[in-house]
Amino acid sequence: MSDFRAELIKRIEEEGAMPVSEFMGEAISYYYQNKAPFGTKGDFITAPEISQMFGELIGLWCVDIWIKLGKPEALHLIECGPGKGTMMADMLRATKALPMFHDALSVHLIETSMSLMVEQKQALDGYDVMWHESMVQIPLRAPFILIGNEFLDALPIDQYEFKGGAWHKRLVGVDNGKLVFTTSEDKVEVSHYGQEGDVIEISPARDAFVADVAAKLKQHSGAALFIDYGHHKSAVGDTLQAVKDHKPVDVLAFAGEADITSHVDFESIAQEAQEKGCHVPPVAPQGAFLQALGIMQRAETLSKHATEAQINDIQTALARLTAAKEMGVLFKALAITSDENIK
Ligand code: SAH
Repeated sequence: MSDFRAELIKRIEEEGAMPVSEFMGEAISYYYQNKAPFGTKGDFITAPEISQMFGELIGLWCVDIWIKLGKPEALHLIECGPGKGTMMADMLRATKALPMFHDALSVHLIETSMSLMVEQKQALDGYDVMWHESMVQIPLRAPFILIGNEFLDALPIDQYEFKGGAWHKRLVGVDNGKLVFTTSEDKVEVSHYGQEGDVIEISPARDAFVADVAAKLKQHSGAALFIDYGHHKSAVGDTLQAVKDHKPVDVLAFAGEADITSHVDFESIAQEAQEKGCHVPPVAPQGAFLQALGIMQRAETLSKHATEAQINDIQTALARLTAAKEMGVLFKALAITSDENIK
């Protein structure tokens, strides 16, 4: 058994069951600190690791926003949860042809994993980049663009289960030396109609993060872009999931060894941003979003000087990123802008 699970079991036996959010936060933090999660040898693969086209197009999206902002001379470019640093490297390379944009930039990465920070430093060698553990540490003095790919899905959620005619908070406890899901004895007030057995998810961490970004956007102007898998509308259902070696595994049995995420409730975060006075264009499926940014044309250009094998790879990547049965529909892009004219 992993040290993480043994330690967690001991603590729960001593102190009692913990909310799902506390479990998820600790399991994810341990996992990103101690594992090499990305790529074929890792546990899962993300869009920027599938193809350079992804980061390149997000880079163009940022340039477009910068132009709509009136080409400010100073712009903070912030990425949350940059993983291996691939997306930022592709974004910066693709926009190099615009020296005015590059001169305006100060690049900030928000990352909590020290081991991933080392990888990001290598990927971004030669660029002036600052690292932070959270948003509050960034000294904002100018408009900013913030991006996060598969970042929000890693922020902890709480779950509530409708049992015996009332909502109860779901907890992680221990039974017979193993981690198990249980529920709190106390009823909890949740403003949601429930039927026996229903599970709903609320992510105070996610909502608070987006609300904070939106408030800062109103203050300094700019835009944020979150790409993740999730649903347009808040819905009932348990979406907590764990992935190891590219396969779904039990969330509790592999805690600390697998990536744990949940679907992002885009309706909830859009609402947070709107409440702060930001503009939120409709959520776009990833496939449509990338097509609007010109992924077809980019694939064609890349294919012009490519070998047959490379052309095959480009076509495979294109399908993975945009096809409905792959990442094209389940993954969605949500933009938040400080002003209606920036979209
Ligand atoms: N964006 C990357 C990586 C996604 S995985 C990609 O698309 O490949 C999630 C990333 O978020 C990792 O870099 C992880 O270390 C980071 N992360 C997870 N929880 C975090 C938190 N609370 N604060 C900052 N970064 C976090």
